[in-house]
Amino acid sequence: MAKYIGPKCRLCRRENEKLFLKGEKCFSGKCAIEGRPFPPGQHGQSRRRPRVSDYALQLREKQKLRRSYGLLEHQFKRYYQEADRRKGSTGENLLQLLEGRLDNVVYRMGFSASRSEARQLVRHNGVEVNGNKTNIPSYQVNPEDAITVSKASEVQLRIKASMEMARQRGFADWLDVDPEKLSGIYRARPERGELSADINEHLVVELYSK
Ligand code: SF4
Repeated sequence: MAKYIGPKCRLCRRENEKLFLKGEKCFSGKCAIEGRPFPPGQHGQSRRRPRVSDYALQLREKQKLRRSYGLLEHQFKRYYQEADRRKGSTGENLLQLLEGRLDNVVYRMGFSASRSEARQLVRHNGVEVNGNKTNIPSYQVNPEDAITVSKASEVQLRIKASMEMARQRGFADWLDVDPEKLSGIYRARPERGELSADINEHLVVELYSK
């Protein structure tokens, strides 16, 4: 599976927003967007800002969301198509589908410091869903599914370190996490109000529905 292997902080600087792609560094003073709060590239610090069209706004919002979840364009578009096919609000469906990815749930439960680290953990058979080894990062977790770090991975210090930091920051309301057992239950799909208000999913829907 292809993936983006370029500098991650550059993506945040491009979107002018923290996308939390590098684990603990994102919460420290070393975060690149704090030191260089302007877009990357030769004209990043230019004072002249071009007028921003509606299309540009929609595109940036889509890129921000896609990059936050570490997806390629075709993967992201498939989520949009599935969200559009389902009943209810397409934007909310889209966010729920993204949140329901196994790699995202592993990250939210604190078993990894970033979504890319979560993806690696899943790929390497590091987690079980309802007691079954599942190594597909895009696997859709269902409400009441139990996610557990496998016995072989439990000893990894970095998982324990990630869990400790996540515990200090607190867990999302739709998750029930047992930090000692390195396990958790995905209680329900998050409702829109429980997710970040910084995301404007309507712009993404407008972009794709053209
Ligand atoms: Fe983005 Fe994290 Fe890099 Fe900061 S440290 S720019 S939040 S990836």
